[in-house]
Amino acid sequence: MRHSPDQVLEHLAEVLQRHLGAEQRQRRQTGRERIAAFLGAPFPQLPKVAAVLGPVRGTNVASALDRLIARYPTAEVATPSNGPEPTRRRVDLGDATRLLPTESLVAWPAGTLDPDHPLVTLHSPDPEDLRGGQRLLVVAPSGAAAHADRALDHVLAEADGPANVLRGRVLQAQHNGSLTLEPVAPPEGSRDDLVLPDAVWAAIDRNVARVFARRDRLHAAGLSSRRGLLLHGPPGSGKTALTRVLTREHAGEATVILAEAPAIVRDAPALFAELDALTPALVIIEDLDLLVGSRRARPDRTVPLQGLLQALDGAHGPRRDLVTIATTNAPDALDAALTRAGRFDEHLPVPPPDAAGRAQILARHLAPLGLDRPDLLWRLAHLTDGATGADLAALCNTAILDAQDSPLEEELISVAQGRLAREASDASGTYL
Ligand code: ADP
Repeated sequence: MRHSPDQVLEHLAEVLQRHLGAEQRQRRQTGRERIAAFLGAPFPQLPKVAAVLGPVRGTNVASALDRLIARYPTAEVATPSNGPEPTRRRVDLGDATRLLPTESLVAWPAGTLDPDHPLVTLHSPDPEDLRGGQRLLVVAPSGAAAHADRALDHVLAEADGPANVLRGRVLQAQHNGSLTLEPVAPPEGSRDDLVLPDAVWAAIDRNVARVFARRDRLHAAGLSSRRGLLLHGPPGSGKTALTRVLTREHAGEATVILAEAPAIVRDAPALFAELDALTPALVIIEDLDLLVGSRRARPDRTVPLQGLLQALDGAHGPRRDLVTIATTNAPDALDAALTRAGRFDEHLPVPPPDAAGRAQILARHLAPLGLDRPDLLWRLAHLTDGATGADLAALCNTAILDAQDSPLEEELISVAQGRLAREASDASGTYL
Protein backbone atom coordinates (compact mmCIF):
# COMPACT_ATOMS: atom_id res chain seq x y z
CA MET A 1 0.00 0.00 0.00
CA ARG A 2 1.31 3.43 -0.92
CA HIS A 3 0.92 6.55 1.24
CA SER A 4 0.36 10.02 -0.07
CA PRO A 5 3.20 12.48 0.67
CA ASP A 6 0.88 14.24 3.11
CA GLN A 7 0.27 11.02 5.00
CA VAL A 8 4.03 10.31 5.13
CA LEU A 9 4.74 13.80 6.49
CA GLU A 10 2.00 13.50 9.05
CA HIS A 11 3.35 10.16 10.19
CA LEU A 12 6.86 11.54 10.40
CA ALA A 13 5.69 14.50 12.46
CA GLU A 14 3.89 12.13 14.80
CA VAL A 15 6.97 9.93 15.25
CA LEU A 16 9.15 12.97 15.83
CA GLN A 17 6.69 14.41 18.32
CA ARG A 18 6.60 11.15 20.25
CA HIS A 19 10.36 10.84 20.20
CA LEU A 20 11.08 14.44 21.18
CA GLY A 21 8.33 14.38 23.79
CA ALA A 22 9.88 11.30 25.37
CA GLU A 23 13.30 12.89 25.27
CA GLN A 24 11.99 16.11 26.77
CA ARG A 25 10.18 14.18 29.46
CA GLN A 26 13.35 12.27 30.18
CA ARG A 27 15.45 15.41 30.21
CA ARG A 28 13.02 17.00 32.63
CA GLN A 29 13.31 14.09 35.03
CA THR A 30 15.36 15.48 37.86
CA GLY A 31 17.64 13.64 40.23
CA ARG A 32 14.81 13.75 42.80
CA GLU A 33 12.39 12.13 40.37
CA ARG A 34 14.88 9.38 39.58
CA ILE A 35 15.37 8.73 43.28
CA ALA A 36 11.59 8.70 43.84
CA ALA A 37 11.12 6.27 40.95
CA PHE A 38 13.86 3.96 42.21
CA LEU A 39 12.80 3.96 45.87
CA GLY A 40 9.04 4.03 45.28
CA ALA A 41 7.97 7.21 47.14
CA PRO A 42 8.11 10.99 46.57
CA PHE A 43 11.54 12.41 47.40
CA PRO A 44 10.46 14.55 50.40
CA GLN A 45 8.96 11.52 52.12
CA LEU A 46 12.08 9.37 51.86
CA PRO A 47 14.45 9.11 54.85
CA LYS A 48 17.83 10.67 54.15
CA VAL A 49 21.07 11.32 55.91
CA ALA A 50 23.82 13.70 54.78
CA ALA A 51 27.48 14.37 55.55
CA VAL A 52 29.20 17.63 54.65
CA LEU A 53 32.64 16.94 53.22
CA GLY A 54 35.77 19.09 53.30
CA PRO A 55 38.27 18.88 50.44
CA VAL A 56 40.02 15.73 51.74
CA ARG A 57 36.87 13.76 52.47
CA GLY A 58 35.31 15.09 49.24
CA THR A 59 38.08 13.52 47.15
CA ASN A 60 38.19 10.34 49.21
CA VAL A 61 34.41 9.85 49.07
CA ALA A 62 34.61 10.13 45.26
CA SER A 63 37.31 7.46 45.38
CA ALA A 64 35.21 5.28 47.74
CA LEU A 65 32.14 5.50 45.48
CA ASP A 66 34.31 4.65 42.49
CA ARG A 67 35.54 1.49 44.23
CA LEU A 68 32.07 0.48 45.36
CA ILE A 69 30.65 1.02 41.85
CA ALA A 70 33.38 -1.25 40.48
CA ARG A 71 32.56 -3.84 43.17
CA TYR A 72 28.80 -3.85 42.41
CA PRO A 73 28.26 -3.72 38.64
CA THR A 74 24.46 -3.68 39.04
CA ALA A 75 24.64 -0.19 40.57
CA GLU A 76 23.17 2.38 38.18
CA VAL A 77 25.30 5.48 37.89
CA ALA A 78 24.33 8.92 36.61
CA THR A 79 25.07 12.54 37.33
CA PRO A 80 22.55 14.36 39.51
CA SER A 81 21.74 16.53 36.48
CA ASN A 82 20.72 13.34 34.68
CA GLY A 83 23.70 12.81 32.44
CA PRO A 84 24.38 9.15 31.70
CA GLU A 85 27.86 9.17 33.28
CA PRO A 86 29.25 11.07 36.24
CA THR A 87 31.64 13.84 35.21
CA ARG A 88 35.17 12.98 36.23
CA ARG A 89 38.15 15.03 37.28
CA ARG A 90 41.74 14.05 36.86
CA VAL A 91 43.34 13.99 40.29
CA ASP A 92 47.11 14.27 40.18
CA LEU A 93 48.48 12.43 43.22
CA GLY A 94 52.07 13.58 42.75
CA ASP A 95 53.31 10.18 41.55
CA ALA A 96 50.12 8.81 39.95
CA THR A 97 46.84 10.11 38.53
CA ARG A 98 43.28 8.97 39.11
CA LEU A 99 40.04 9.89 37.35
CA LEU A 100 37.45 10.48 40.04
CA PRO A 101 33.78 11.41 39.71
CA THR A 102 33.09 15.04 40.65
CA GLU A 103 29.41 14.38 41.28
CA SER A 104 27.34 11.25 41.02
CA LEU A 105 23.90 9.85 41.64
CA VAL A 106 24.05 6.10 42.19
CA ALA A 107 21.08 3.78 42.53
CA TRP A 108 22.19 0.74 44.54
CA PRO A 109 19.87 -2.28 44.26
CA ALA A 110 19.27 -4.38 47.39
CA GLY A 111 22.20 -6.71 47.93
CA THR A 112 24.84 -4.13 47.03
CA LEU A 113 25.45 -1.18 49.38
CA ASP A 114 22.85 -2.62 51.76
CA PRO A 115 22.03 -6.35 51.90
CA ASP A 116 18.26 -5.87 52.19
CA HIS A 117 17.27 -2.51 50.75
CA PRO A 118 17.82 -0.46 47.63
CA LEU A 119 19.53 2.87 48.41
CA VAL A 120 20.60 5.97 46.51
CA THR A 121 23.77 7.99 47.10
CA LEU A 122 24.05 11.55 45.86
CA HIS A 123 27.56 13.03 45.93
CA SER A 124 27.52 16.65 44.79
CA PRO A 125 28.55 20.21 45.65
CA ASP A 126 26.90 21.19 48.91
CA PRO A 127 24.12 23.64 47.97
CA GLU A 128 24.41 25.32 51.38
CA ASP A 129 28.17 25.77 51.29
CA LEU A 130 29.05 28.75 49.11
CA ARG A 131 32.77 28.05 49.50
CA GLY A 132 32.60 24.93 47.37
CA GLY A 133 32.25 22.14 49.93
CA GLN A 134 30.72 18.84 48.93
CA ARG A 135 27.96 16.70 50.35
CA LEU A 136 27.14 13.02 50.44
CA LEU A 137 23.44 12.25 50.76
CA VAL A 138 22.13 8.72 51.27
CA VAL A 139 18.44 8.12 50.60
CA ALA A 140 16.62 4.99 51.76
CA PRO A 141 13.13 3.61 51.08
CA SER A 142 10.39 4.60 53.57
CA GLY A 143 10.93 2.97 56.94
CA ALA A 144 14.60 2.11 56.34
CA ALA A 145 16.29 5.21 57.82
CA ALA A 146 18.73 3.12 59.87
CA HIS A 147 19.99 1.55 56.64
CA ALA A 148 20.78 4.99 55.19
CA ASP A 149 22.77 5.73 58.36
CA ARG A 150 24.71 2.51 58.12
CA ALA A 151 25.43 2.97 54.43
CA LEU A 152 26.72 6.51 55.06
CA ASP A 153 29.07 5.20 57.74
CA HIS A 154 30.15 2.45 55.38
CA VAL A 155 31.03 4.88 52.55
CA LEU A 156 32.85 7.22 54.96
CA ALA A 157 34.83 4.32 56.46
CA GLU A 158 35.80 3.21 52.98
CA ALA A 159 36.78 6.84 52.18
CA ASP A 160 38.92 7.20 55.30
CA GLY A 161 40.38 3.72 54.93
CA PRO A 162 41.11 1.68 51.79
CA ALA A 163 39.85 4.34 49.33
CA ASN A 164 41.88 7.12 50.95
CA VAL A 165 43.96 8.40 48.04
CA LEU A 166 45.41 11.36 49.95
CA ARG A 167 46.83 9.79 53.09
CA GLY A 168 50.62 9.50 52.89
CA ARG A 169 50.89 12.11 50.12
CA VAL A 170 52.56 15.50 50.13
CA LEU A 171 49.70 18.01 50.02
CA GLN A 172 49.97 21.72 49.34
CA ALA A 173 47.37 23.60 51.37
CA GLN A 174 46.23 26.73 49.57
CA HIS A 175 43.46 29.25 49.81
CA ASN A 176 41.64 29.48 46.48
CA GLY A 177 38.41 31.06 47.60
CA SER A 178 38.25 28.17 50.05
CA LEU A 179 40.75 25.65 51.39
CA THR A 180 42.22 23.29 48.79
CA LEU A 181 44.68 20.47 49.41
CA GLU A 182 46.41 19.40 46.23
CA PRO A 183 48.94 16.56 46.05
CA VAL A 184 52.42 17.55 44.86
CA ALA A 185 55.55 15.51 44.18
CA PRO A 186 57.85 15.10 47.22
CA PRO A 187 60.76 17.56 47.05
CA GLU A 188 64.33 16.49 46.35
CA GLY A 189 66.85 16.55 49.17
CA SER A 190 68.46 14.30 51.75
CA ARG A 191 70.32 14.68 55.05
CA ASP A 192 73.59 14.52 53.14
CA ASP A 193 72.84 17.90 51.55
CA LEU A 194 72.64 19.62 54.92
CA VAL A 195 75.38 20.27 57.44
CA LEU A 196 73.78 20.66 60.85
CA PRO A 197 75.01 19.94 64.39
CA ASP A 198 74.31 16.41 65.61
CA ALA A 199 72.17 17.90 68.37
CA VAL A 200 69.76 19.28 65.74
CA TRP A 201 69.36 15.90 64.04
CA ALA A 202 68.92 14.20 67.42
CA ALA A 203 66.16 16.66 68.41
CA ILE A 204 64.51 16.22 65.00
CA ASP A 205 64.55 12.44 65.36
CA ARG A 206 63.11 12.61 68.85
CA ASN A 207 60.31 15.01 67.94
CA VAL A 208 59.34 13.74 64.50
CA ALA A 209 60.50 10.27 63.49
CA ARG A 210 60.12 8.76 66.94
CA VAL A 211 56.70 10.29 67.53
CA PHE A 212 55.46 8.55 64.38
CA ALA A 213 57.34 5.31 65.00
CA ARG A 214 56.31 4.99 68.64
CA ARG A 215 52.79 6.37 68.45
CA ASP A 216 51.16 3.06 69.42
CA ARG A 217 53.29 2.90 72.54
CA LEU A 218 52.42 6.50 73.37
CA HIS A 219 48.70 5.76 72.94
CA ALA A 220 48.98 2.62 75.07
CA ALA A 221 50.58 4.67 77.84
CA GLY A 222 47.85 7.33 77.56
CA LEU A 223 50.38 9.91 76.36
CA SER A 224 50.20 12.50 73.63
CA SER A 225 51.39 11.66 70.13
CA ARG A 226 51.46 15.27 69.01
CA ARG A 227 54.27 17.74 68.81
CA GLY A 228 54.56 21.41 67.94
CA LEU A 229 58.13 22.15 66.95
CA LEU A 230 59.46 25.64 66.26
CA LEU A 231 62.66 25.83 64.17
CA HIS A 232 64.34 29.17 64.65
CA GLY A 233 67.58 30.63 63.39
CA PRO A 234 68.89 33.41 61.15
CA PRO A 235 67.78 33.59 57.52
CA GLY A 236 69.71 31.14 55.37
CA SER A 237 70.61 28.72 58.17
CA GLY A 238 68.83 25.83 56.47
CA LYS A 239 65.38 25.73 58.11
CA THR A 240 63.51 25.43 54.83
CA ALA A 241 66.02 22.92 53.52
CA LEU A 242 65.48 20.90 56.70
CA THR A 243 61.70 20.86 56.27
CA ARG A 244 62.25 19.62 52.70
CA VAL A 245 64.38 16.74 53.93
CA LEU A 246 61.73 15.86 56.53
CA THR A 247 59.00 16.01 53.89
CA ARG A 248 60.89 13.57 51.74
CA GLU A 249 61.69 11.27 54.67
CA HIS A 250 58.16 11.04 56.09
CA ALA A 251 55.94 11.16 52.99
CA GLY A 252 54.30 7.77 52.70
CA GLU A 253 54.49 6.87 56.37
CA ALA A 254 52.72 10.17 57.15
CA THR A 255 50.77 12.74 55.14
CA VAL A 256 52.85 15.90 54.80
CA ILE A 257 50.94 19.16 54.52
CA LEU A 258 52.84 22.17 53.22
CA ALA A 259 50.69 25.01 54.47
CA GLU A 260 50.94 28.20 52.45
CA ALA A 261 50.49 31.53 54.21
CA PRO A 262 46.95 32.35 53.02
CA ALA A 263 45.74 28.85 53.90
CA ILE A 264 46.93 29.38 57.48
CA VAL A 265 45.70 32.95 57.73
CA ARG A 266 42.22 32.18 56.40
CA ASP A 267 41.61 28.47 56.84
CA ALA A 268 43.61 27.20 59.85
CA PRO A 269 40.62 25.64 61.67
CA ALA A 270 39.31 24.04 58.44
CA LEU A 271 42.79 22.78 57.61
CA PHE A 272 43.32 21.15 60.98
CA ALA A 273 39.80 19.67 60.85
CA GLU A 274 40.75 17.90 57.61
CA LEU A 275 43.66 16.22 59.34
CA ASP A 276 41.41 13.65 60.99
CA ALA A 277 41.28 11.79 57.69
CA LEU A 278 45.02 12.09 57.07
CA THR A 279 46.92 11.17 60.23
CA PRO A 280 49.65 10.42 60.96
CA ALA A 281 50.42 13.84 59.58
CA LEU A 282 53.29 16.32 59.46
CA VAL A 283 52.19 19.93 58.98
CA ILE A 284 54.83 22.45 57.89
CA ILE A 285 54.23 26.17 58.28
CA GLU A 286 56.98 28.46 56.98
CA ASP A 287 57.79 31.89 58.42
CA LEU A 288 55.26 31.73 61.22
CA ASP A 289 56.21 35.21 62.49
CA LEU A 290 55.12 36.78 59.19
CA LEU A 291 51.71 35.16 59.50
CA VAL A 292 50.93 35.53 63.14
CA GLY A 293 53.14 38.01 64.93
CA SER A 294 52.62 39.46 68.33
CA ARG A 295 49.15 40.80 69.07
CA ARG A 296 50.74 43.85 70.64
CA ALA A 297 52.90 44.63 67.62
CA ARG A 298 50.27 43.79 64.99
CA PRO A 299 46.73 44.02 66.33
CA ASP A 300 45.46 43.38 62.77
CA ARG A 301 46.92 39.86 62.97
CA THR A 302 44.68 38.93 65.87
CA VAL A 303 42.12 37.07 63.79
CA PRO A 304 44.54 34.65 62.09
CA LEU A 305 46.35 34.16 65.38
CA GLN A 306 43.11 33.20 67.10
CA GLY A 307 42.24 30.86 64.24
CA LEU A 308 45.61 29.17 64.49
CA LEU A 309 45.43 28.93 68.28
CA GLN A 310 42.02 27.30 68.10
CA ALA A 311 43.23 24.95 65.40
CA LEU A 312 46.29 23.97 67.43
CA ASP A 313 44.20 23.46 70.54
CA GLY A 314 41.89 21.22 68.54
CA ALA A 315 44.93 19.43 67.25
CA HIS A 316 46.22 19.06 70.77
CA GLY A 317 42.90 17.81 72.09
CA PRO A 318 41.40 14.65 70.73
CA ARG A 319 43.55 14.60 67.60
CA ARG A 320 46.60 12.39 67.58
CA ASP A 321 49.63 11.46 65.55
CA LEU A 322 50.28 14.99 64.44
CA VAL A 323 53.57 16.85 64.27
CA THR A 324 53.44 20.53 63.38
CA ILE A 325 56.71 22.20 62.43
CA ALA A 326 56.89 25.97 62.02
CA THR A 327 59.93 27.97 60.98
CA THR A 328 60.79 31.50 62.00
CA ASN A 329 63.70 33.93 61.74
CA ALA A 330 62.26 35.95 64.62
CA PRO A 331 61.01 33.80 67.51
CA ASP A 332 60.76 36.90 69.74
CA ALA A 333 58.16 38.38 67.40
CA LEU A 334 55.79 35.48 68.06
CA ASP A 335 52.89 35.93 70.40
CA ALA A 336 53.56 34.20 73.70
CA ALA A 337 50.22 32.41 73.32
CA LEU A 338 51.64 30.46 70.38
CA THR A 339 54.74 29.20 72.07
CA ARG A 340 53.26 28.18 75.41
CA ALA A 341 53.10 24.55 76.49
CA GLY A 342 50.85 22.36 74.37
CA ARG A 343 51.30 24.46 71.22
CA PHE A 344 54.75 25.16 69.72
CA ASP A 345 56.41 24.10 72.93
CA GLU A 346 59.61 22.56 71.53
CA HIS A 347 61.99 25.26 70.33
CA LEU A 348 64.86 24.03 68.24
CA PRO A 349 67.61 26.49 67.26
CA VAL A 350 69.03 25.93 63.78
CA PRO A 351 72.31 27.83 64.19
CA PRO A 352 74.73 28.98 61.49
CA PRO A 353 77.53 26.42 61.07
CA ASP A 354 80.72 26.45 63.14
CA ALA A 355 84.13 26.50 61.39
CA ALA A 356 84.09 22.74 60.74
CA GLY A 357 80.54 22.98 59.40
CA ARG A 358 81.51 25.90 57.14
CA ALA A 359 84.43 23.91 55.76
CA GLN A 360 82.09 21.00 55.09
CA ILE A 361 79.50 23.16 53.32
CA LEU A 362 82.22 24.86 51.24
CA ALA A 363 83.63 21.44 50.36
CA ARG A 364 80.29 20.41 48.84
CA HIS A 365 80.32 23.38 46.51
CA LEU A 366 84.03 23.24 45.69
CA ALA A 367 84.69 19.49 45.40
CA PRO A 368 83.16 19.26 41.90
CA LEU A 369 85.61 22.02 40.86
CA GLY A 370 88.59 20.16 42.38
CA LEU A 371 89.05 22.91 44.99
CA ASP A 372 88.21 21.05 48.20
CA ARG A 373 91.79 21.18 49.51
CA PRO A 374 91.84 21.23 53.34
CA ASP A 375 94.14 24.30 53.54
CA LEU A 376 91.83 26.36 51.30
CA LEU A 377 88.67 25.16 53.03
CA TRP A 378 90.04 26.03 56.48
CA ARG A 379 91.24 29.44 55.34
CA LEU A 380 87.81 30.23 53.91
CA ALA A 381 86.06 28.82 56.98
CA HIS A 382 88.24 31.04 59.16
CA LEU A 383 87.32 34.12 57.09
CA THR A 384 83.58 33.45 57.22
CA ASP A 385 82.80 33.34 60.91
CA GLY A 386 79.03 33.76 61.43
CA ALA A 387 78.14 32.98 57.80
CA THR A 388 75.13 30.77 57.15
CA GLY A 389 74.91 27.97 54.60
CA ALA A 390 73.13 30.37 52.26
CA ASP A 391 75.94 32.97 52.73
CA LEU A 392 78.55 30.36 51.84
CA ALA A 393 76.63 29.33 48.72
CA ALA A 394 76.46 33.01 47.77
CA LEU A 395 80.22 33.39 48.37
CA CYS A 396 81.01 30.55 45.96
CA ASN A 397 78.49 31.87 43.51
CA THR A 398 79.96 35.40 43.53
CA ALA A 399 83.53 34.11 43.20
CA ILE A 400 82.70 31.87 40.24
CA LEU A 401 80.90 34.70 38.45
CA ASP A 402 83.51 37.38 39.27
CA ALA A 403 86.69 35.37 38.61
CA GLN A 404 88.35 36.68 35.48
CA ASP A 405 92.12 36.42 35.14
CA SER A 406 92.83 35.35 38.70
CA PRO A 407 92.43 31.69 39.72
CA LEU A 408 89.09 30.85 41.36
CA GLU A 409 90.86 30.00 44.58
CA GLU A 410 92.16 33.57 44.92
CA GLU A 411 88.79 35.01 44.01
CA LEU A 412 87.16 32.94 46.76
CA ILE A 413 89.59 34.30 49.33
CA SER A 414 89.17 37.82 48.06
CA VAL A 415 85.35 37.64 48.26
CA ALA A 416 85.58 36.16 51.77
CA GLN A 417 88.00 38.91 52.85
CA GLY A 418 85.73 41.58 51.36
CA ARG A 419 82.88 40.11 53.35
CA LEU A 420 84.96 40.20 56.51
CA ALA A 421 85.93 43.82 55.88
CA ARG A 422 82.29 44.79 55.32
CA GLU A 423 81.32 43.00 58.49
CA ALA A 424 83.90 44.95 60.46
CA SER A 425 82.45 48.25 59.20
CA ASP A 426 78.86 47.11 59.49
CA ALA A 427 78.43 45.23 62.69
CA SER A 428 74.76 44.77 61.98
CA GLY A 429 74.89 41.82 59.66
CA THR A 430 76.55 39.41 57.28
CA TYR A 431 75.75 40.43 53.75
CA LEU A 432 77.57 39.30 50.72
P1 ADP B 1 66.27 29.38 55.92
O1 ADP B 1 64.99 28.67 55.66
O2 ADP B 1 66.83 29.10 57.27
O3 ADP B 1 66.18 30.86 55.65
P2 ADP B 1 67.21 27.91 53.65
O4 ADP B 1 66.92 26.52 54.04
O5 ADP B 1 66.23 28.56 52.71
O6 ADP B 1 67.37 28.83 54.92
O7 ADP B 1 68.67 27.98 53.02
C1 ADP B 1 68.92 28.40 51.71
C2 ADP B 1 69.95 27.50 51.06
O8 ADP B 1 71.21 27.64 51.72
C3 ADP B 1 69.63 26.03 51.18
O9 ADP B 1 68.79 25.58 50.15
C4 ADP B 1 71.00 25.39 51.11
O10 ADP B 1 71.42 25.31 49.76
C5 ADP B 1 71.89 26.40 51.80
N1 ADP B 1 72.08 26.05 53.21
C6 ADP B 1 71.61 26.71 54.28
N2 ADP B 1 71.98 26.12 55.42
C7 ADP B 1 72.72 25.05 55.09
C8 ADP B 1 73.39 24.01 55.83
N3 ADP B 1 73.35 24.03 57.16
N4 ADP B 1 74.03 23.05 55.14
C9 ADP B 1 74.08 23.06 53.79
N5 ADP B 1 73.47 24.02 53.03
C10 ADP B 1 72.79 25.00 53.66
